[in-house]
Amino acid sequence: MKRTIFDEDHEAFRRTCAAFVDRKLRPHQEKHIANHEFGREVWLELGRQGLLGLNVPEAYGGSATGDPRFSLVLAEELAKLAFAYSSCVGIHMDCVAPYLVDLGTEEQKQRWLPGFCSGEIITALALTEPSGGSDLAALKTTAERRDEGWILNGSKTFITNGYSADLIVVAARTSPEKGAKGISLFAVEATMPGFERGRKLDKVGQPEADTSELFFADVRLTTDNLLGEVDRGFGYMMQRLVGERIGSAVNNLAHARQILDETLVYAKERMAFGQPVGSFQANKFTLAELVTKAEVAQAFVDACVMESVQHTLTAVDAAKAKWWSAQVQNEIIDACLQLWGGYGYMNEYRVGRAYSDARVAKIWAGSNEIMKELIGRDLGL
Ligand SMILES: Cc1cc2nc3c(=O)[nH]c(=O)nc-3n(C[C@H](O)[C@H](O)[C@H](O)COP(=O)(O)OP(=O)(O)OC[C@H]3O[C@@H](n4cnc5c(N)ncnc54)[C@H](O)[C@@H]3O)c2cc1C
Repeated sequence: MKRTIFDEDHEAFRRTCAAFVDRKLRPHQEKHIANHEFGREVWLELGRQGLLGLNVPEAYGGSATGDPRFSLVLAEELAKLAFAYSSCVGIHMDCVAPYLVDLGTEEQKQRWLPGFCSGEIITALALTEPSGGSDLAALKTTAERRDEGWILNGSKTFITNGYSADLIVVAARTSPEKGAKGISLFAVEATMPGFERGRKLDKVGQPEADTSELFFADVRLTTDNLLGEVDRGFGYMMQRLVGERIGSAVNNLAHARQILDETLVYAKERMAFGQPVGSFQANKFTLAELVTKAEVAQAFVDACVMESVQHTLTAVDAAKAKWWSAQVQNEIIDACLQLWGGYGYMNEYRVGRAYSDARVAKIWAGSNEIMKELIGRDLGL
C-alpha cells in the first residue's frame, strides 16, 4: 500500500538522508560495531549536513522545520541500515531537543543549541536508574537544595549516548515528600566535577550504539542547569514521552520492513528441492502474512504521525502504536530469520543482527506491559 503522509519535500529529504547513510555510515559499520559507538566524527558530519537541527529554531543554528516528518524520515533511513543509528540520533534530536527548546531559558539555548546542531554537543536523556525504569515516579537520584543551587547524587543506567554525551538531561528528586510532584530536570554538563561514566554496556544487540551507566557524586548545580520549573519534571517527561513513543514506532516499522524486503529477495533466490524457498506454500503464506502485518501496522502508525503533525496525538494512541509496532517488528524479523535458515543465525548476516537489535523495542521507552497499562487505564480498567 502506498504511503500518503509524505510529499515531494519529504521524499527529496529522504534521498539526502539515504545518501548520507550510504556514504558516511554503511562503509564504516563494522568499525562502529567493534567500537560500540559510531564516534564523534559521525555526529559532526550529521551536523555539517544540517541533519541535527531539524527541531531547533534557526536563531540557534537549526532549521526549525516545524514538521516532525522530516526527522522521522531521517530516522527511517538510519533504521534501515541498523536500529542503533536511529536510536542514538533519535535520542538526541527527537527526545532531548524538545526539553532544551521548550524548557530552556534564552541563556541556556544560546549556550547549548548551536553545539547541539553542529554535533559538537552530543546529548543523552537520563531517566532510568538501576532500581527501575518503568516506575519513573519512584526514581532515587536526588538534587538537594544547597545555598543558591542543588547537590546532585545518584546514578542512571542503560543511557543511550551515555558514554559520549557532553550534555545530559537528568531527572532527579528535588522534593522527596512530594512523590511524582517532587521531580525536576537538570541539564548536566559532562565536565562538571562529580560526574562519571561507567563502561560501555555489553548489550544483546545494537552494538553500534553506546549505552552507559552514569554516576553523580555531589555534582554542584545552579539555576543555569535547571530545565523549566522546580518539581514539574514528571509532567514535562510525560508530555514528551508521546513524541518519543511515536518516534520509536516509526523506527520499529522501518527496521522490520527493510529486513522483510531483503528477505523477499532472498526467498526468491535461495533454492531447496529444486525451487525457491519462498515458493513453498508455507513460506509464501508466511511472507504474505508478514507483508500484511507490516502494511496494516504502518497505516496506524502513519495516522498517528499525522496526528502528531497536527498536535492532536494522544498518549494512549502513541502507546498503541509503540507496543504494537514493536510486537510486529519482532514477529516479522523472527519469521524472516527462519527463512534465511542457518545463515540467519550468523552475525555476519543482517537478519541475525536485526533480530538481536529489535528485541529491546518491546522494553525501552516504556515496555509493552507499561503501554498496555496506559491503554487499559484509558478503558476505565
Ligand atoms: C539498550 C537500552 C537503551 C536504553 N536507553 C535509555 C535512555 O537513553 N534513557 C533512559 O532513561 N532509559 C533508557 N533505557 C531504559 C529503558 O527505558 C528501561 O529499561 C525500561 O523503561 C524498563 O525499565 P527496567 O529495565 O528498569 O525494567 P523494570 O521497570 O524493572 O521492569 C521489569 C519488567 O517488569 C515489567 N513491569 C514493570 N511494571 C509493570 C506493571 N505495572 N505491569 C506489568 N508489568 C510491569 C516491565 O514491563 C518489565 O518487563 C534503555 C534501555 C535499554 C535496554
